[in-house]
Amino acid sequence: MKTEEQYIESLRRLNLEIYLLGERVTNPVDHPIIRPSLNSVAMTFRLAQEEKYKHFMTTASHLTGKTINRFTAIHGSAQDLVNKVKMQRLLGQKTASCFQRCVGMDAMNALYSTTFEADKKHGTSYHSRFKGFLQNVQEEDWVVDGAMTDVKGDRSLRPGQQADPDLYLRVVEKRNDGIVVRGAKAHQTGMVNSHEVIAMPTIALRDDEKDYAVSFAAPTDAKGLFFIYGRQSCDTRKLEGSAIDVGNHQYGGHEVLAIFDEVFVPWERVFLCGETDFVGSLVERFAGYHRQSYGGCKVGVGDVLIGAASLAADFNGTAKASHIVDKLIEMIHLNETLYSCGLACSSEGYPTPAGNYEIDMLLANVCKQNVTRFPYEIARLAEDIAGGLMVTMPSEKDLRNERTGPYIQKYLKGVASIPTEHRMRILRLIENITLGTAAVGYRTESMHGAGPPQAQRIMIRRQADLEAKKNLARNIAGIE
Ligand code: SF4
Ligand code: FE
Repeated sequence: MKTEEQYIESLRRLNLEIYLLGERVTNPVDHPIIRPSLNSVAMTFRLAQEEKYKHFMTTASHLTGKTINRFTAIHGSAQDLVNKVKMQRLLGQKTASCFQRCVGMDAMNALYSTTFEADKKHGTSYHSRFKGFLQNVQEEDWVVDGAMTDVKGDRSLRPGQQADPDLYLRVVEKRNDGIVVRGAKAHQTGMVNSHEVIAMPTIALRDDEKDYAVSFAAPTDAKGLFFIYGRQSCDTRKLEGSAIDVGNHQYGGHEVLAIFDEVFVPWERVFLCGETDFVGSLVERFAGYHRQSYGGCKVGVGDVLIGAASLAADFNGTAKASHIVDKLIEMIHLNETLYSCGLACSSEGYPTPAGNYEIDMLLANVCKQNVTRFPYEIARLAEDIAGGLMVTMPSEKDLRNERTGPYIQKYLKGVASIPTEHRMRILRLIENITLGTAAVGYRTESMHGAGPPQAQRIMIRRQADLEAKKNLARNIAGIE
């Protein structure tokens, strides 16, 4: 396994093409807007080296038996699935943001079983190719981005019916030595902190949509691949040099628009090419694993937010008010309900024909459906407890200013024993998670990440076996 330092050094050796605020970024590792997101991924390396976290952060490779980072592992039991969720909660607690590395883990686990089943039916050799790639990932301890979401253009049209056929990523050329792909993937989490990217189709496809039925791995500095960095609310505060005003200046997440402008992929890195009959299950499995993931990561960030709200109450002198106590209880109740679903879909996990473990699909979708709602309510309650000062407070520069500083110290004080600066720091942290850069991960991503609410409702309907429930009712009611 790589140490945190080795991971950061390995990123320096990549030659990525990144654009941010209209300019090419020459040194992403030290860029003030990008660096906090890198620090969050680095935490996945740091904690894997710490004795007390090894149980969650590492496991034995089923390919080599060597100890590997769990983010590069194929889940071999229901307990592995449970440990994955616990690892994600831990990392959410340590970073209060999206630590980005789960997408690749979820893509690899979905591809593991799907390539196995595709080979069985079609006589292809995707599974052994994929295992070869996986072994490299484990041995190099690579960060792998999982790229699913196509830009999709007109949502009422199929991929091939779009005015521009590139709005879904597709194969534009097949050669003896590999394929050439063109298209774009949106909302790509952590991609510029990654060594590799695994691309997958975004929707179930029909027989005549074979060019779009493609999955492959490419290095993030592959020729023709480049990134346009997404803006986040309040992102340029990171350029101002004020740790307080950023709220969480050490950690963050990021998303990019990734452009695949005629990227060549050798055959040994192609894991699906034209097998439209396996695209639906690949999409469902990846989404299922990532819906499980949210029952861990969002809960960890929720822990930080609940802690911050509780401190804000202490600093405001409201901690003993019964309605504040009740609001904190409600936040905990909602957060632990999310966790319960993450654990439940994991402990009900079962083996696939390939031997790896899959989550209970119904419960994973219920988990994510709750995630589209509860973080919003938790955020609402945190804002309620924090008070309006969270968004009307002056800057750190005003706190440090000779003329204004003493008045901010005096008039923005809450409980006398608490320094005003502490109160400001906690309010800015709540602002960061609910409205600032981390709100991408905690709020809007809770809605849309791993699929929007309606995507889960379709799966819940499909998985619920209503006919069996009708039979239960018929039996009890005495209907033949
Ligand atoms: Fe991991 Fe959560 Fe970020 Fe997805 S949103 S990559 S599960 S931390
Ligand atoms: Fe996500």
